[in-house]
Amino acid sequence: MKEFIYADNAATTRLSEYALEAMTPYLKEHYGNPSSLYAIGREAHRAIEDARKKIASALHAPAGDVYFTSCGTESDNWALKGTARRLAKEGKKHIVTTAIEHHAILHAAESLREDGFEVTLLPVGAGGRISAEAVRDAIRPDTALVSVMYANNEIGTIQPIAEIGAVCREAGVLFHTDAVQAAGILPIDVKEQNIDMLSISAHKFNGPKGTGVLYCRKGACPDNLLDGGAQERGHRSGTENVACIAGMAAALEESCGMMKEKAERMAAMRDEIQARILRIPGAYLNGGGADRLPGILNVSFEKIDGEALLFELDLKGIAASSGSACTSGSVDPSHVLLAAGVPYQLAHGSLRISLGRYNTEEEAERIVKGVTEAVEDLRAGRVKRNG
Ligand SMILES: *Cc1c(COP(=O)(O)O)cnc(C)c1O
Repeated sequence: MKEFIYADNAATTRLSEYALEAMTPYLKEHYGNPSSLYAIGREAHRAIEDARKKIASALHAPAGDVYFTSCGTESDNWALKGTARRLAKEGKKHIVTTAIEHHAILHAAESLREDGFEVTLLPVGAGGRISAEAVRDAIRPDTALVSVMYANNEIGTIQPIAEIGAVCREAGVLFHTDAVQAAGILPIDVKEQNIDMLSISAHKFNGPKGTGVLYCRKGACPDNLLDGGAQERGHRSGTENVACIAGMAAALEESCGMMKEKAERMAAMRDEIQARILRIPGAYLNGGGADRLPGILNVSFEKIDGEALLFELDLKGIAASSGSACTSGSVDPSHVLLAAGVPYQLAHGSLRISLGRYNTEEEAERIVKGVTEAVEDLRAGRVKRNG
């Protein structure tokens, strides 16, 4: 059995040793409730406040503006729904976001629409980019919030966040960015980039699953989504996931420490894989014209079904993704690819390879070989399968 290759790092990542070590004491001996006053409670409380400082420093934010949540999805929902609810009281019932957001944003916006809010979805071109001018044109006097993702999880395109933030600041509109794919890979500076709210999720940067952060600039905190105790300074109820919070802080610190070398290594491997895969006849790069995350490659193949391709790759011990994990199993191809102008048929034959810090040159070589063979076999009808 060949060694398994994990090339789906945009879906989730392997927990780093360093993060695991930071978590262990809080799963074992320091199991106290951080709100309790006795010693093991105080230990847990201290771990949370240490983590808050580390994360704040990675975002260039004050520690008091960092709020722990249960995941990136919760952070996105909180930013959108909590801000909408808060500003609806001032008659602001319009939200601007984009057609290529993660479902955590798009479905939250949809739910607000059902509650009587108006939502403008900015389109993207073939390069998958949103311009600051398009955001400026979409802002109205009743706009409560603009939410534009920092980097896309399917095609990897990076948005001009600082310029969009500047446009929002000038118009007096709050700006949220889903930075889940960017954290630990691209620099984040909430002050310089004019960001009022920002979401991150630990499991996308080699931290544990089920824990995230919403950064909220002082005065920009959305209304609460959860009612309960007074955790997180009264803004987010629920006993804190101490071990995962400690693991997230360690993982982010570690990722930021190796950001540049990691990005260069990943981009070199990605570019090599891309160049060779694009030599396959009928292969097209999706969203490739713009600035991209270093580890993401999205390609479409003519006369190929994306799901069948994933299955073939799985048999070769390669884990990748088609469209996005959230849309796999459904018949509709990815909303991101369609929004970026990829024809329906080609969107169906898409493959996303997303590299992470643990991938090697040797694996890159095997990915190229595996994809090339799988596409040839599928096209030649050499594989037959029922379900
Ligand atoms: C993964 C992801 C999310 C959701 O984060 P979870 O912690 O899995 O809920 C949101 N936005 C983007 C861009 C993502 O890639």
